[in-house]
Amino acid sequence: MPSIGLFGGTFDPIHSGHLHIARSFADELRLSSVIFLPAGAPYHKTPPHPPAAHRLAMVEIAAQADPRFAVSDCDIVRQGATYTHDTVQIFHQHFPAAEIWLLIGMDSLLQLHTWHRWQNLVRQCRIAAAHRLATSLAQAPAPLQAWLAEALPQGRLHILQAAPLPASSTQIRQQLAASGTSPDLPPTVLAYIRQHHLYHIPPRAR
Ligand code: ATP
Repeated sequence: MPSIGLFGGTFDPIHSGHLHIARSFADELRLSSVIFLPAGAPYHKTPPHPPAAHRLAMVEIAAQADPRFAVSDCDIVRQGATYTHDTVQIFHQHFPAAEIWLLIGMDSLLQLHTWHRWQNLVRQCRIAAAHRLATSLAQAPAPLQAWLAEALPQGRLHILQAAPLPASSTQIRQQLAASGTSPDLPPTVLAYIRQHHLYHIPPRAR
């Protein structure tokens, strides 16, 4: 049975931390593909800065790094709020024979109980979470505890063994605004950012 990993995010911009965990998820879970799903207008985050088309283009460029990577604009073209719950159902319909994994970082896992229909979501797919600096499963809030106690031993939740990389999009946006570059960006993505004058890069740094 093919196993597909769904990797949603704002990707504002995509960075080496995303690519590192995507590769690690694919290796550890033996996924046939990791599908990057850039968000349209995520309801739990403030509106992203560059239009979705730019974030999508950067993800497409970065995804060329691994033949197992693919990109879907499913969460961008859908009208209205795009809930992960609905995205997973769409992929079940498209790939009825596939096992679906939801791929997330530890900070997202710790917020899972705030997601739309999360208790139904965790029945629709298996979840894999990557370690992220300054977060740990020990910080899981009370509403997640009962689910964690069941899901971990049952293998419905997998915690990635790979060591975390500290990259974050917030930090990269700050680095770009300050110095016009960031060590956590793939060079091809940095070139796209410069070409399209994204993220308020100071003119002297272009
Ligand atoms: P921001 O800093 O703007 O919050 P971000 O770096 O977290 O952005 P997102 O696009 O929001 O990037 O992340 C998409 C998913 O990838 C989330 O589940 C997040 O937890 C995970 N993620 C992002 N960066 C890392 C990282 N360095 N290590 C582990 N998981 C990560």
